[in-house]
Amino acid sequence: MTYKVLIANRGEIALRALRACRELGMKTVGVYSDVDRDLKHLKFADETVCIGPASPAESYLNIPSILSAAELTEVDAIYPGYGFLAENHEFAGQCNKSGYKFIGPDAETIKKMGDKITAKKFVEKYNIPTVPGYSKDLPNDEAKIKHIVKNIGYPVILKATAGGGGRGMRVVDKEENLINLIEITKQEALNAFGNEKIYIEKYIENPRHIEIQIIGDGKGDAIHLGTRDCSVQRRHQKIIEEAPALNLDKNNLDKTLQACVNLCKEIKYEGAGTLEFLYEDAGFYFIEMNTRIQVEHPVTEMITGFDIVKAQIKIALGINYDLDQSKVNFKGHALECRINAEDPETFQPCPGEITKMHTAGGFGIRYDSHIYSGYNVSPYYDSLLAKIITQANSRSSAIKRMLSALDEFFVEGIKTNQSLHQKILKNEIFVNNKHTIKYLERDFFKNNEL
Ligand code: ADP
Repeated sequence: MTYKVLIANRGEIALRALRACRELGMKTVGVYSDVDRDLKHLKFADETVCIGPASPAESYLNIPSILSAAELTEVDAIYPGYGFLAENHEFAGQCNKSGYKFIGPDAETIKKMGDKITAKKFVEKYNIPTVPGYSKDLPNDEAKIKHIVKNIGYPVILKATAGGGGRGMRVVDKEENLINLIEITKQEALNAFGNEKIYIEKYIENPRHIEIQIIGDGKGDAIHLGTRDCSVQRRHQKIIEEAPALNLDKNNLDKTLQACVNLCKEIKYEGAGTLEFLYEDAGFYFIEMNTRIQVEHPVTEMITGFDIVKAQIKIALGINYDLDQSKVNFKGHALECRINAEDPETFQPCPGEITKMHTAGGFGIRYDSHIYSGYNVSPYYDSLLAKIITQANSRSSAIKRMLSALDEFFVEGIKTNQSLHQKILKNEIFVNNKHTIKYLERDFFKNNEL
């Protein structure tokens, strides 16, 4: 039987999914908004369907429109990618109910992990350490709230339980600001996510962002594909990622990896998932689980040779898939630089036409991108243009390879953050792997005129 998969996304991840489907001998359906007719993956898809106008709410987030496209083309499954509807439990449920297998975990798991308080309480049952804090409903009494926070210890971070994408968080460093900031954060959470529920966590001052990639077969078996370090961030958005994360406490790492695998086995987790942690003073603190493919998945693929996207598709469609931890071998080190269409000094998005460009290539270099000369970068969607990934025997060789790749790569017509990457990769703190999530905003920009 030849399966047909609808790719409910755009840009580089749609192309990544299309490539995986083609290798698996599957047919593909590409969907697109009015302004996206020239997306690269559409040129290779077996069928294409326009799902609405440019505004994401009317196209890539439009569930009825995507389901109509699925019905029209009679697909077997829907690949969500990341962003848009990838973590929308209603979408997952409706796909499955309509007879189009959602490629990912079931709607209930997505819902549970999508609410940060529920997720935290849930993973604690599996001996996964979380950030200390207060997750119950806050009392109405100001004195009681102050007492609770005093016990956690300042500084704390207020977080919207429905938050995401680095939004809905606020740090409080002294008691006199507490009540006021709680009110502001609640109001913002209500406006942004339609849910004013917030919770309080100890603010971890100088951690690394470490994540663990897991794969479950949906039947009770699961493996891990090791760690990634995504500490190079600006405004909680990742810029450079690498695998594996180096210099972690071996004992705590082994325990945490095992706890993550156990959780996924217990809940019969299906597909790819990532547990995200803050790491400080040898301790892991869970912050959230993403029930989808991550932008940075290629670094894990490069050091394991494990095709995560193919695994997602095969598992979802019930194609024989044997998960065996003993067959996962880690080789060398991989880095990923996210090339964004943005001004490297102001970080303002920089849409427009790419008049001329050249990709990077060579031994140990992977290039995941949908752009080409003449492609028009739309202002409607995120600014990710390309992911350059290098793999080498050591971290320092992977950095040198990346610098060479970045020298080769060029884009004309729009601005990109390429020069920012080149500077970070030569910066002593990064080169010595001493950076934390504070590095870019606190250390780097202070000393670098961009
Ligand atoms: P989102 O879902 O919006 O990405 P996360 O919970 O994953 O939110 O947190 C994103 C980033 O916010 C983290 O990588 C880290 O930089 C910062 N952060 C979150 N929780 C804490 C905390 N308790 N202490 C310090 N920084 C935090």
